Amino acid sequence: MLTNWAGNIAFTAQHLDRPATVEELQRLVRAGSRVRVLGSGHSFNRIADTDGTLVSVASLPSEIDVDRAASTVRVAAGVRYAELARQVHAQGLALRNMASLPHISVAGSVATGTHGSGVANGSLATAVRELDLITADGELLTLSRELDGDRFAGAVVSLGALGVVTSLTLDLVPGFELAQRAYTGLPLSVLDEHVEAVTSAAYSVSLFTDWRGPRFGQVWLKYAAGQEPDFPWAPEAAGPLHPVPGMSPVHCTQQQGVPGPWHERLPHFRAEFTPSAGEELQSEYLMDRRHTLAALHAVDAIRDAVAPVLQICEVRTVAGDDLWLSPAYGHDTVAFHFTWLKDTGAVLPVLGLLEERLAPFAARPHWGKLFTVPAGVLPGRYPKLADFRELARELDPTGKFTNAFLAPVLRGV
Ligand SMILES: Cc1cc2nc3c(=O)[nH]c(=O)nc-3n(C[C@H](O)[C@H](O)[C@H](O)COP(=O)(O)OP(=O)(O)OC[C@H]3O[C@@H](n4cnc5c(N)ncnc54)[C@H](O)[C@@H]3O)c2cc1C
Repeated sequence: MLTNWAGNIAFTAQHLDRPATVEELQRLVRAGSRVRVLGSGHSFNRIADTDGTLVSVASLPSEIDVDRAASTVRVAAGVRYAELARQVHAQGLALRNMASLPHISVAGSVATGTHGSGVANGSLATAVRELDLITADGELLTLSRELDGDRFAGAVVSLGALGVVTSLTLDLVPGFELAQRAYTGLPLSVLDEHVEAVTSAAYSVSLFTDWRGPRFGQVWLKYAAGQEPDFPWAPEAAGPLHPVPGMSPVHCTQQQGVPGPWHERLPHFRAEFTPSAGEELQSEYLMDRRHTLAALHAVDAIRDAVAPVLQICEVRTVAGDDLWLSPAYGHDTVAFHFTWLKDTGAVLPVLGLLEERLAPFAARPHWGKLFTVPAGVLPGRYPKLADFRELARELDPTGKFTNAFLAPVLRGV
């Protein structure tokens, strides 16, 4: 049985096609009446599912071609960030940001608007400058930021609805060193006065709470090596920590201010630790950053319902962008992430309550995580959804790349 990483989704397709060449993949796309791509399978909902042909691009040649002069990398779609980061680092260059886990595929992460943290850091999709995709007719289409304007902005965070991405070209920055420190016990009341200062206290800031009280049990700062952060609001942790209280920090990236390369500090979890099936579910809601405080108090008001099914909640920031279906589209963003107990029946009612309380802030659900926001509500949250539907109709007139998860999103009912 084919399942996602967490094991909460059994895919309808019984078989995963793994073409070894782009030509073979083109033949599969031409022949299929319904086709979806599975990346590294880290999404928590049925976004990648299909009852037709399910393909993986992981067996295509795993090209990672760094252009030092242009400061870019062309990377095969199925490559995971851990491997990409190692090779980019070896050339003295860097990705600007990474997600909490480096084991996720580049194309799958970009397709759902996956992000890390940092008030000046866009989502991972904002690094894309060009992408190659096989569209419904089996032909290869290249779209670039420079030449394709709006169509490019529409096609990057694609939810897999426009075709099969075979490779992407990403912006790089000069290599850099970061250090990471964890602080403990930040009261929510500190944020009432200092929310901007706390969330922008370092290159990347993560606030963790189990919502068993109005406080953040941990704050993680990732900062430029040598530039010690000024964080007067909570004491530094006595030793390394795991975001989930009580779990061993052995798989977490180095803390306690030890400097190291960007790709060994930006993710929370080490690349060399291979996560097995996760004992968790995840949801995430992204809002205009101006609502951070009000939204935190809205969750605090229902913490008695949230805490019993929660492992940990993480608050991060993402710089706004212009990618149509990006959860950070149009405004600087705050993201409330929830790692739940692996108990779908107990979690779903809490999602409903949470979504009701975050509705006044027009919270956008993360496309790759669990949510119950009805499709009819999404155009009010994603202002470019109607344009995306047009683009999907143009590139995929028969709905080959649609599935049961996307049909209501694309139909607009
Ligand atoms: C432990 C864990 C930690 C996480 N941390 C973060 C985090 O820090 N920040 C965050 O934002 N998210 C995070 N996520 C969510 C994760 O980043 C997203 O679910 C992401 O989409 C996973 O990438 P994937 O390759 O596994 O995609 P999949 O789940 O395999 O697929 C996701 C979507 O991408 C499409 N897709 C995949 N490959 C292609 C392709 N080649 N062409 C076209 N479409 C394609 C699929 O069809 C599907 O629609 C985390 C998930 C887990 C399990």
